Amino acid sequence: MTELPARRLLLVHAHPDDESINNGATMAKYAAEGAHVTLITCTLGERGEVIPPALRHLSGAGLAEERERELAAAMKALGVTDHRLLGRPGRYRDSGMMGTSDNDDPDCFWRADLDEAAGHLVEVIREVRPQVLVAYDPDGGYGHPDHIQAHRVAMRAAELAAGAGESIAKVYWNRVPRTVVEEGFARLRDALPELPFAEVAAVGDVPGVVDDERITSAIDGTAYADAKIGAMRAHATQLEVAPEQPYFALSNELAQPLFTTEYYELVQSLVQSSVNSGRGGATESDLFEGLGL
Ligand SMILES: [Zn+2]
Repeated sequence: MTELPARRLLLVHAHPDDESINNGATMAKYAAEGAHVTLITCTLGERGEVIPPALRHLSGAGLAEERERELAAAMKALGVTDHRLLGRPGRYRDSGMMGTSDNDDPDCFWRADLDEAAGHLVEVIREVRPQVLVAYDPDGGYGHPDHIQAHRVAMRAAELAAGAGESIAKVYWNRVPRTVVEEGFARLRDALPELPFAEVAAVGDVPGVVDDERITSAIDGTAYADAKIGAMRAHATQLEVAPEQPYFALSNELAQPLFTTEYYELVQSLVQSSVNSGRGGATESDLFEGLGL
């Protein structure tokens, strides 16, 4: 087996596009710096609403195929070569929005057996041995059943892997500081007349927003903005990115700010870094801080 790079980052996401929106700049930065970046996507997002009229005929298996292609193009834009579907492509179906009949599909991710789904992820953890795991918070950032389940599977897999002697040194949840979101929306409202969007989303539409004090880590991905925007554009069925401006919309056509600094909350750590060194209020600028790598 070929030797993996010293620094290894694992990210777990619900659908193709979530990784680029939440972590695109982080993934591009670490891949460019020579870290091994592994993305696990739990479903192919075949219940997503399609934006471009020319592709609106796609649904179910046809949309899954298109989204798998979009994911591959996004990973190319980010320079990430290790991206996999949980279990195997199509193993878990998109569960649809909370409260819809799609949640009752026995093959949907929401209905997955937790330990079986986590078991697939444990195999990846034992193979790649990541020091850093990035996942959602317990609410999945915004309450989508696949995002909640992706959180549970990631945390359970980390626990099972640790029990098998493969502990992950640092576990993070995706976050966005409230003041950053509020400032982003203020800029967006000013720019709206020049944008291809009619209306603006609300702060509550952005996943993972928390009070600033909870942020432990900020990754400045400004140098990787083009890679992130390219990856987001690759998810053309799901996202519309404004030309030349850091704003985008989902299928609800409500504009949101696009962030190239990405934020995290360190929730488990086996090492000392500026977060837990007692200096107070410090934020890390590197997810591998304290690992000596
Ligand atoms: Zn999603």
